[in-house]
Amino acid sequence: MERLTSPRTIKYIMEKYGFRFSKGLGQNFIIDENVLTRIIEGSEVTKNDMILEIGPGIGVLTDVLCENASKVVSVEIDKSLIPVLTETVGHHENLKVINSDVLKIDVKALIAEEFGDVKPKLVANLPYYVTTPIIMMFLEERIPISDLVVMIQKEVADRIVAKPSTKAYGALSVVVQYFTEPSIVTRVSRGSFMPMPNVDSTVIRLKVRDVSPVQLEDEAIFFLTIKDAFGKRRKTLLNALSSGFLKISKDQAREALEIAAINENTRGEALDINTFATLANAIYKVRN
Ligand code: SAM
Repeated sequence: MERLTSPRTIKYIMEKYGFRFSKGLGQNFIIDENVLTRIIEGSEVTKNDMILEIGPGIGVLTDVLCENASKVVSVEIDKSLIPVLTETVGHHENLKVINSDVLKIDVKALIAEEFGDVKPKLVANLPYYVTTPIIMMFLEERIPISDLVVMIQKEVADRIVAKPSTKAYGALSVVVQYFTEPSIVTRVSRGSFMPMPNVDSTVIRLKVRDVSPVQLEDEAIFFLTIKDAFGKRRKTLLNALSSGFLKISKDQAREALEIAAINENTRGEALDINTFATLANAIYKVRN
């Protein structure tokens, strides 16, 4: 068989297995060899690494992951791709393919079973329709992985790495930056996929933090503070905090802002993660 990045190979597979691309499952396969190299380099995969892959598709990324890592476990939702993967990457003895929806399985149990105490790296070209839910599931549930190296829609990547007082900065930026240290690995144009999506992509690396970057009295209050601050972007902090999920009065919000030394007319998008932590701790104080 020709290389898996070759459109000819994809056409051969479609004919042999009667495979049809599912837009609903976000199936856009990599057809650019350089992109694979950049993902492997950006994720610094070596023979010391264990890899969890989500959505192997026809196995194009899986193949290079198996060549570079010690063990790869790939979770693919689409049953019709399982016989394809047996043909394309089934010869790798360090590969296990699991036919499941990653959002419905017990990923912690899977990791314990397949990797023991070693934290794998998550490396994936994620399906667009569930990019944020998958990333947030791994972070919020504190699934033991060391890094997420994921291909996602360019705009989502820009939001994740955004700095305060920029248009892209929002709750996603603060929450992902709280759990991880994000960096852009490479930009990927839409022409690198088959079929071609109508968005451009970015490979982003999220290094999961071992130690929290801020001191919090109550993590749940921190998340609610962020949610309320960005929930009503055009409102001042005083109004946003006193009319949201925190369920605090205007007087309590004013008192908390005073303790945190934040002007009540400031907007959420101006606050960096440290200031959000100071504010959340002040809200904790006025609520207790
Ligand atoms: N890794 C391949 C590549 O780079 O060419 C395919 C990437 S494609 C963007 C996304 C893959 O994720 C598809 O194979 C799709 O069937 C699979 N997928 C979609 N939703 C999934 C889910 N919830 N759980 C596991 N796999 C999923």
